[in-house]
This record gives sequence, C-alpha cells and structure tokens, in this order.
Amino acid sequence: MKGLVQDFQLTLPYMLRRAEQLYGYREIVTRRPDKSFHRYTYADFVVRAKKLAVALKKLGIKDGDRVGTLGWNTYQHLEAYFGVPTSGAVLHTLNPRLHEDDLSYITDHAGDRVMLVDETLVPVWQKFRDRVNVEHAIIVTENGDVPEGMLSYEELLADADESEFEYPEFDEDQAAALCYTSGTTGRPKGALYSHRSTVLHSMMVSLGNTFALSEADCVLPIVPMFHVNAWGMPYASVLVGAKLMMPGPHLDPASVIEDFEQEKVTFTAGVPTVFLAVLQALDKEQGKHDLSALRAMAIGGSAVPKGVIKAFDERHGLKVVHAWGMTEMSPIGSVANLPTPVREQSEDEQLDYRAKQGYPVPLVEIRARGDEGFVPWDGESMGELEVRGPWVASSYYEAPEGADKFTDDGWFKTGDIVTIDEYGFIKIMDRSKDLIKSGGEWISSVDLENALMAHPAVSQAAVIAIPHEKWDERPLAAIVLKEGESVTEDELRDHLAKDFAKFWLPDAYEFVESIPMTATGKFQKLKLREQFEGYTSAKG
Ligand code: AMP
Repeated sequence: MKGLVQDFQLTLPYMLRRAEQLYGYREIVTRRPDKSFHRYTYADFVVRAKKLAVALKKLGIKDGDRVGTLGWNTYQHLEAYFGVPTSGAVLHTLNPRLHEDDLSYITDHAGDRVMLVDETLVPVWQKFRDRVNVEHAIIVTENGDVPEGMLSYEELLADADESEFEYPEFDEDQAAALCYTSGTTGRPKGALYSHRSTVLHSMMVSLGNTFALSEADCVLPIVPMFHVNAWGMPYASVLVGAKLMMPGPHLDPASVIEDFEQEKVTFTAGVPTVFLAVLQALDKEQGKHDLSALRAMAIGGSAVPKGVIKAFDERHGLKVVHAWGMTEMSPIGSVANLPTPVREQSEDEQLDYRAKQGYPVPLVEIRARGDEGFVPWDGESMGELEVRGPWVASSYYEAPEGADKFTDDGWFKTGDIVTIDEYGFIKIMDRSKDLIKSGGEWISSVDLENALMAHPAVSQAAVIAIPHEKWDERPLAAIVLKEGESVTEDELRDHLAKDFAKFWLPDAYEFVESIPMTATGKFQKLKLREQFEGYTSAKG
C-alpha cells in the first residue's frame, strides 16, 4: 500500500519562491573587486535571478542546456545559482585557477552554450575563448567596460521583463548543476546534481548535527562557489533565509576578519589554508577583534591538524568543526560533531575525535572495504571508503566507458583509505587516488610524471605529496636520469611551466638512482613517501 501524501517536487524554483515569500528583508552583502561593499536584499536578489532566467531564454537557452560561470563568491554568482537552474538550464561552475587546457576541455565536454565571466576573470577567459564553442560570453560587471565580443550582464538584466517569468513546475530529477572533479589520471570528470539532490543536500547542511543553519545566521562561504557549490552553503542559506556575506575575490586574512567582525558573521567554512592564515593574523592581533558572533567554522577539503583546532579554541574562543566531502557527494559526507558519550570524555580525548573527519550526515551511508571484505568499525582496520546517499553521484557526466568508480551494488568508491570507529567516525589515513591537494586545489601526480618523463634527459619520474605548513601538501618529484644525461631543477621547472598552472610545479626535484616498483611495474608511492618522510617544503 502506498502512503497518501502529495507528490511535491523538490526543486530550486520552489526554494526561490520560498525566499521571495518569506525572506525579502534579509541582506546579501558582497565585497566588490575594489574591496567596497555591495548590499542588497533577498527581494532584490529574487527579482534579478528571475530576470536572468528570462534573459537566458531570450538568448535561446533551453531546458538542459549548460551555462558556464567563471566567478568568485558574489551576489551575481548567487543570481546564477538560482537563475540558471530555474530557467531549466544547468549551472556549470568552472574553476578559474585551472590551466587553460583543462578549462577548454571542461567547457567543451560540458557543452556550455553561455559563459558568465566575472570582470576580474576576463583575462582567464581570453586565454581559452578561441578554443571553445561557447555562443555567448557575458561579462559580469557593475559599471566596467564591455570587451568586444562579450555581452553585458547588466544590460541583459535591464532588458529582461520580470513579468515574463513564471515559476516552472518541473521534475525534481532534472539536472540543476554540474561540477568537474580532477581525474586521477588524465581528464576531469563531471558530477551532475539534480534539483532533488540539491534541495535535500541543503536541508541536510542546515540540520543541527551538521552546520545548524537558520534564519538567524550570517553565513560567509570562504570556500569558492566554483568548488562543489561552495559546499552547498549558498543553497542552504537561501533555503533557511540566512544573511549571506560574500567575500568576492578577497580571501586574505585581513579582509576575512574584517568581514567576520563588521557583518557579525556566525558561520563560515573553507579549506585549512585560509584558516591557518586567519589564525596567524589573529595571533598577531590578539584581543583586537570582536568575533563573539562567530559560533562555528567548518573546515574541510583537507585534514585539519589537531593543533589548529586547539589553537582556535584556546587562544581565540573559536570553534572548528571538521568536515569531509567530495565533489561526487555534493559535497558533504561527514561532520565531526561530537556524540554524547564523546562529549563526556576529557578535552584531550574530544580533540582526538574533532580531528577525525566525523560521522556520516543523515541519509549518507558508509562502509570501508579491505583486502578481505568490509572492515569492522573498530577504529583500526583500514579499507577504502564507499558511500551512498541521495546526493551521491550515480555516474559521471558523459564519462568514457570504464571511468566510473562504482561498485556492482551501486556504492561510490571514494579512493580515501580510512578507519571507522564505534561511533561511525571516519579517519582518513591515506588516498588510493594519485592526487596531491595544495591549498584546496588538486594536482595530478600522474600528469606531472608523464610530462617529466617526456623530457629527453629523464628516464623515470614519480611525484609524491610532501607536507607543507601553509598549503597542506606540495609535490616533490623523484627523478631518475637517463644514462649519461644531466638536467637542472630550473630546466625541469621551465619544461613543466609550458603546460601546467604555476601552483602545479613541484617544490622539490630529487635525483635518485631508482624508484621503488611494485610487482606489476607501478611506482610504489607508499615506499617512496617513506623514503622522503620528514621532508617538508617551506617554499612560500
Ligand atoms: P573534492 O572532490 O575536490 O572535494 O575532494 C575530495 C577529497 O578531498 C576527498 O576524497 C579527500 O581525499 C579530500 N578531503 C576532503 N575533506 C577532507 C578532510 N576533512 N580531511 C582529509 N581529506 C579530505
């Protein structure tokens, strides 16, 4: 027998209508490129999001078409977050820090018909504009010049008639947003979220055991809107009617701390690199700032060191909440809020749990697979973490055959090697994927290795992560030279600089006799990491 409840579709148009009906008075603040503040209300935001939907239709954008964005955390980007999916199209956020080869590949793979470009990112756009099939490039600027070949966002909105907008009633399974993840080898892959997954993820983010967001909050997403929808915070904030403080391109500690204090930010989230810089700045200016409104800072994307959690606690009375997630998970998977038996333990013991990646949020299920099947939840046995849930990807967008990372029974294989303890707390021990995470951005060691091995003097090259105080991880390249050949570090760096973004270039090149190999002829990275244990990079 079926339950007798209404078949109510979970969609972003519903969330926009709710914001319009209930939260028109709430404020959205943005740091402009020149650091001044732009302020408007949810009422203004809804009108402009609707106008964007109308304008896209006028440009010929149809249901399911992809609309790309190159933008920071700004009110205009928020308009795109709602205007694009509400028009029926799919919002595709691109990471402007990527190399133009990746940007052009991703744009064409996604099939973006339109690109919204923040005025500060026009130089990035111009690097790959001629290589992609985008029909309309739109510059997002309040009053700057409109370069030749681009349309003006403000003019498009001014010409759009709000009365032409009707809230669409579409299927909740329709695609809403697309984000690309770095491939372990080779090409990035697209995670395609639906309206339903986005609404459910927003509700979960707001739950008490997750980030406890409500109308009373002022949320500052430090994590960029081009990184997995800023961990869902813009959507969740609009669902609950929280005030939003958008930092624009300004993530330096002085600006962020000023934003916290001036706007009375209650909740923020981002990667450890930014928070480490904030901690250092606060340490220097001890007692100078009133951050009493800030009730929690969610940190994730890379592991948060215990010392950082403790330092924020003890020196500044600020609470760090450790979280884990993935692009393929919309992204939130687990949060280290403490269960009652742990809260009854000593501060030190609690800290051990807070430094783990947390336990799964509601509707996400986890298990870890070792060599002999699923491992027990004993906090010691290691296995690869597998997940499932209503906002976990079921496959990649237009993925080549065999690129999927899913089990036969439909769970997603994360590539994270973990232990799980009796309370379900995950602890990430290692990664099976061959990637290095530097300041929240991925670097593919395999791509660097292939490029290094293409150098005429290099016989073999293996790239591993070494710890770095500011960037969490940085690449180190172990190089075996061909007999009789020689090459300098600078020559190798110049060789790589042609094809890779600057932050990809290894901090260190170590010339070695040989690289440890597995029986199947693969680099034994674990052994190599042991060889370079204690090696840290201090480069800036
Ligand atoms: P992304 O898809 O770029 O969001 O990256 C997801 C990956 O980042 C995960 O599979 C982990 O390897 C890593 N990651 C995310 N959060 C954490 C965390 N709190 N601690 C350690 N690694 C993390």
